[in-house]
Amino acid sequence: MTSDALTQARAAYDAFKARGLKLNMQRGQPSDADFDLSNGLLTALGEMDTHMDGLDLRNYPGGVAGLPSARALFAQYLDVKAENVIVWNNSSLELQGMVLTFALLHGVRGSDRPWARLEGAVKPKMIVTLPGYDRHFLLLQTLGFDLLTVDMQPDGPDVDAIERLAASDESVKGVLFVPTYSNPGGESISADKARRLATVQAAAGDFTIFADDAYRVHHLSDDQQDTPVNFVTLSRDAGFPDRAFVFASTSKVTFASGGLGFVASSEDNIRWLSKYLNAQSIGPNKLEQARHVKFLQSYPDGLEGLMRDHGRLIAPKFKAVDDTLSTELGNSGEYATWTSPRGGYFISLDTAAPVADRVVELAEAAGVSLTPAGATFPSCQDPQNRNIRLAPTRPPLDEVYTAMQGVAACIRLATEEYRAGKH
Ligand code: PMP
Repeated sequence: MTSDALTQARAAYDAFKARGLKLNMQRGQPSDADFDLSNGLLTALGEMDTHMDGLDLRNYPGGVAGLPSARALFAQYLDVKAENVIVWNNSSLELQGMVLTFALLHGVRGSDRPWARLEGAVKPKMIVTLPGYDRHFLLLQTLGFDLLTVDMQPDGPDVDAIERLAASDESVKGVLFVPTYSNPGGESISADKARRLATVQAAAGDFTIFADDAYRVHHLSDDQQDTPVNFVTLSRDAGFPDRAFVFASTSKVTFASGGLGFVASSEDNIRWLSKYLNAQSIGPNKLEQARHVKFLQSYPDGLEGLMRDHGRLIAPKFKAVDDTLSTELGNSGEYATWTSPRGGYFISLDTAAPVADRVVELAEAAGVSLTPAGATFPSCQDPQNRNIRLAPTRPPLDEVYTAMQGVAACIRLATEEYRAGKH
């Protein structure tokens, strides 16, 4: 029986491999069609557009907090006031790295010492969610944080576990996670969990929430959307006004390398951060900021209209993944389970057997490039060898269907091999 299933799975895999395809489901990048929606950005500024908000865009003045019109626009995006936002250059990850570095060197407001110089030379610890975003792990480990992990659940991080970890040790300085349409599972934190997180009674007086809200507005449809939370307001209302930094960017709104990164926090934190940014820069690229303001103002229905158009391009690709996996593998969990997010960029798949690395290997050999197995865990070590991140946004729709048929064949074969004791 098992060997029949194995023979069939091998035949299906060999047939797919024989097609000699070259497909890429690895990269969490927009497609060319997504980029094309923002081509107007390239000409949004004309020769006469040298000034905005009374500032000469070509010159230094304007400070580090960003162009007032850009601050206003992205304050709306993050549901805060313009005074609560700094609009920086093209990467929110860079901003996260800078805030964390300043915290290590100087401490945050309310710290009694820099995080890199804790009493007894103890290393600072940061909580992250599993599965999670590889670049968060890399950034934190590169800066010298020890990682503590909690599960990502369908309604957001395991807040019970965060409460326990934060309460037990004052070197636990915070949590870094994706609150809306998380990477890789697409989960969003519930209002209740967000409130609990904002009120966590931590041993460290300077326990900080680092919310990487990269997919806050990246809904797949108009009617079925998760509701983003506002950690700046929640923390203030919980009596911890300086507890939260919220990051986002337009990397998956306009251009991935030519967008804008921004951060929201309390006004005191914005002053704290401005002081350190000002020591290393006279200010961010205001021309880019003006370009985004003009382009997004001119887009039909503004930023909301643009995100709706992205949703129309991306939603069918998420459906292609879900439909193909359901058709090929069934929904009983015999071979795999996967998430069905209502937004974001990724789907998280868990194989029933511990074969994620074998699936990725088989897929590569058959011409389908997947995110490396383990990438969703610190140091690329998935203890159960089951999680695979699927990134359907970049390839055209027909390729997503084909690639997922191949991935399903790989999952079947790897599982049957495992069950037959072959690895
Ligand atoms: N955060 C998350 C959760 C992401 O998935 C990504 C892109 N893959 C980024 C940040 C990168 O953002 P940026 O380009 O603004 O640095």
